[in-house]
Amino acid sequence: MARYRGASCRLCRREKLKLFLKGERCYSDNCAFERRSYGPGQHGQARMRKVSDYAMQLREKQKVRRIYGVLEDQFRKYFKMADRSKGVTGENLLQLLERRLDNTIYRLGFANSRNQARQLVRHNHIRVNGVKVNIPSFLVSLNDEITVVEKSKKNTAIAESIESVARRGIPSWLTVDHPNFKGTVKTMPVREELTLPIQEQLIVELYSK
Ligand code: SF4
Repeated sequence: MARYRGASCRLCRREKLKLFLKGERCYSDNCAFERRSYGPGQHGQARMRKVSDYAMQLREKQKVRRIYGVLEDQFRKYFKMADRSKGVTGENLLQLLERRLDNTIYRLGFANSRNQARQLVRHNHIRVNGVKVNIPSFLVSLNDEITVVEKSKKNTAIAESIESVARRGIPSWLTVDHPNFKGTVKTMPVREELTLPIQEQLIVELYSK
């Protein structure tokens, strides 16, 4: 399945939630969701009909998939990994998504959106434990050290992201040293720090049918 290349704001309107897909714009008055929060298309404003359990589960899965920019097959793979691991499957799933390198770069504040973080990783701007990693889905582990490569420290997009990250804060599972363009995985990501309203149990129910 191809990656979604349409308008990101349309996805927020579809999910009836700000998914923060466009960096700084999401915090400004130009956010499309602030102007029109109903769904796109001619039925976008139609009165809500009774929603089936399946529809709710499907929407929740699509929402999380869109937040992290993950394709269906890959998402299903994460679910299988989460299901095989010890602990609560839904929380394991969110932890795996949080551990993706593109998400970690975004969380550390080196990018304003996961999309931008994905680009940085793909274009060889990032090292993990001193080794260049250009795979956005790479899963970071405990004590991994993530750095921006020397020649990219002057990258204006990275500098601008660092300037604006205070707005959303750095999660407690990461430590960051912005002057040295360096971050470390201190603990594994914790569920409590995900502030977007996600009901992961619905996703577990969807895939457990
Ligand atoms: Fe969503 Fe608003 Fe960001 Fe567009 S600008 S992606 S509508 S949060």
